[in-house]
Amino acid sequence: MKKFKGLAMLGFDKIGWIEKEVPKVGPTDALCEPLSISPCTSDVHTVWERALGDRHDLILGHEASAKVVEVGALVKDFKVGDKVIVPAITPDWEAVESQAGFSQHSHGMLNGWKFSNEKDGTFGEVFHVNQADGNLAHLPDSINIEDAVMLSDMVPTGFHGANNAEVAYGETVVVIGIGPVGLMAVAGSVLRGAGRVFAVGSRKKCQEVAKYYGATDLVNYKDGDIVDQIKDATGGKPVDKVIIAGGGLETFGQAVKLIRPGGIVSNINYLGTGDAIEIPRIEWGLGMGHIRIIGGLMPGGRKNMEYLAQVLINKRLDVSPLLTHRFNKLEDLEEGLLLMKDKPRDLIKPVITL
Ligand code: NDP
Ligand code: ZN
Repeated sequence: MKKFKGLAMLGFDKIGWIEKEVPKVGPTDALCEPLSISPCTSDVHTVWERALGDRHDLILGHEASAKVVEVGALVKDFKVGDKVIVPAITPDWEAVESQAGFSQHSHGMLNGWKFSNEKDGTFGEVFHVNQADGNLAHLPDSINIEDAVMLSDMVPTGFHGANNAEVAYGETVVVIGIGPVGLMAVAGSVLRGAGRVFAVGSRKKCQEVAKYYGATDLVNYKDGDIVDQIKDATGGKPVDKVIIAGGGLETFGQAVKLIRPGGIVSNINYLGTGDAIEIPRIEWGLGMGHIRIIGGLMPGGRKNMEYLAQVLINKRLDVSPLLTHRFNKLEDLEEGLLLMKDKPRDLIKPVITL
């Protein structure tokens, strides 16, 4: 049996390289070799915040573009050698949850999230993809492999935040957290027609890129309560939508204090620590304010990747400003992941192209 190597979570707070047997490819599956990979803040929650429990010796990573190296007998639309976009979320499409419109939770809560959660992820010389026809998308020639890896997770997650917030023309939107995910929520809100967009973050580099994607107002949470700062700027008026893409559990209370009756708080942040979320009773209209709070895992699958690729191909979005640190060897993944953990001030997202 052939072996391959990958960067794994060895236990809580510990990463390292391990060897594993190359996974078997079932009739509808594919085996892929990464062309580009990017570490995610979610990998950091998993290893250093212990958010999913001990994923002992599990290869990390869920963002990649790739080359297909093997396909199962029933795979129709992909063949060996094809270049593909790989979504971070690869649902089981036959599940009743998928049929109900929530493929992220196929066969159980968050179960569409397989890479680096319930099976080995993309940080290896090869990785296994379930239901290849439903989960891979052909990588168009006009998208380079660096940009392609932003389609795995950053673009779909940020856009999911804007979609769940139902951002509409002219609305005022607050995006709490402007790492790569929040920046894509800013871009997604602007594409959906937002009027005023507040971007909350402290790092200058992220603030600059938030402006580039269309943020109209920058708020530094280190300069005082963001509720006060934003209310000062709006003359006390509430905002229409809040998208949470960073910060801790306190952001939900802040969002509810900011929002109008009937507004939507859309969370895409992965809550790695803490127990309960406190919602302020009065500002929630004593429970009757028609304020909706929704949290969502990004939708994966082929169709979403194909749509998002169109956004890049037709130059509605340029993801290159997200890519601040570039590497070119698989071994560099370790440094890339530690960058994601330590978040130096000039970092947005590292990318490893192979
Ligand atoms: P980053 O760590 O790069 O960005 C976090 C942002 O939040 C930064 O702008 C940071 O500001 C800001 N922030 C930190 N503390 C506060 C605070 N107290 N109040 C307001 N803002 C604050 O993360 P990513 O963009 O990479 O990821 C964001 C989240 O999305 C993560 O939890 C990640 O796991 C999750 N995620 C969720 C997915 C989904 O499907 N729902 C998919 C992928 C990721 P600064 O650093 O400037 O001080
Ligand atoms: Zn991720």
